[in-house]
Amino acid sequence: MPSLIFRKGLDLKHAVAGMLADNYHSALVEQIKNADFTHPAGRLTVHLAREFGFCYGVDRAVDYAYQTRERFPDRRVYLTGEIIHNPHVNDKLRTMGIRFLTDPGEAIDRLGAGDVVILPAFGVTIAMLESLDRRGCTLIDTTCGSVLNVWKNVRRYADGGYTSVIHGKVWHEETQATASQAVHYGGKYIVVFDRAQTEIVCRYIRGGGDRAAFLETFENAMSAGFDPDRDLQRIGLANQTTMLMTESLEIGEMIRRAMEDRYAGDTRDRYQAFDTICSATQDRQDAVVALLRDQSVDLMIVIGGYNSSNTANLARICAASRPTFHIADPDCLVSPDEIRHRPVGSKEEVSSRGWLPSAGPLTIGLTSGASTPDNLVGAAIARLTEFCK
Ligand code: SF4
Repeated sequence: MPSLIFRKGLDLKHAVAGMLADNYHSALVEQIKNADFTHPAGRLTVHLAREFGFCYGVDRAVDYAYQTRERFPDRRVYLTGEIIHNPHVNDKLRTMGIRFLTDPGEAIDRLGAGDVVILPAFGVTIAMLESLDRRGCTLIDTTCGSVLNVWKNVRRYADGGYTSVIHGKVWHEETQATASQAVHYGGKYIVVFDRAQTEIVCRYIRGGGDRAAFLETFENAMSAGFDPDRDLQRIGLANQTTMLMTESLEIGEMIRRAMEDRYAGDTRDRYQAFDTICSATQDRQDAVVALLRDQSVDLMIVIGGYNSSNTANLARICAASRPTFHIADPDCLVSPDEIRHRPVGSKEEVSSRGWLPSAGPLTIGLTSGASTPDNLVGAAIARLTEFCK
């Protein structure tokens, strides 16, 4: 039995609006937005970035998950994994009885036609989609339009015989889904994480080189049977939607120059690039750059899941010019003396002491990733205010 797929919600938006507001809204954050994004409280002033928190894709995905629970109260409802990279939102869905296929004891081969499966905002691989389809599950597809746009470009590259070079994180669900699109449509792909990896690709484009070392470096980041001598002759660039815009542009430029060098300046039919960073990611990065430029903040706090790509990139931008604390939730603000946070570039959460100046005026800048609900931002600001009394 083929799957039934819902792609535009379940006509229950009004039924769940109150629940969503109760769970994720913050009156304090609304008040601060209405006060020019500034919150003075004694010696403390908090400046909020003008764009932060839930993006349109996350808003929609969470909304559809609530609608799904409402529409199918008696059926088993699953998520393929995290709906978004925020532990609070995922835990909230668990308390509503939504199960996660990635949780211990769950398995896709136990699903059947009576089950409902929600696909996350960053999409799923074609293999996962086909597997669910074979089982005849009812699917609620929340894949964000901006991710679909990346897939459209990758498919176009495959059709035109271009290898997709994807600037992204090979372990991220979105990049895995995008890579699967390239392969499904008969194309090749290679994922580059940063400038250093791009430089390896560029060296190979220019002059070939140590093939074995190349294959080893990108072992888990390229399509099966990838041949660098054959598959780097025509390249189309794509991005995971949540990467750092400045870095993606640089990576595109590096590859374009390498192709020019290799083909004597003639890159017609050799190189294509479409900017596929999503507008929500771009707006949040621009807003934090503006905040750092326009306000003399003493330190920055960035709130969002540690596995959230766009949050990590906001923290990178801030850390370049200010002491920055990327925290997963308000509880990380343990006390005026202690904070739990993940330093930029690190994989581990650490605990730091003496992070908050104990006297004198203090200006804190604050932003949050696209998967962070406003209630967490509000709670963090309330805690900061309490610490600075
Ligand atoms: S970060 Fe961008 S691509 Fe991802 S869900 Fe949000 S709007 Fe969509």
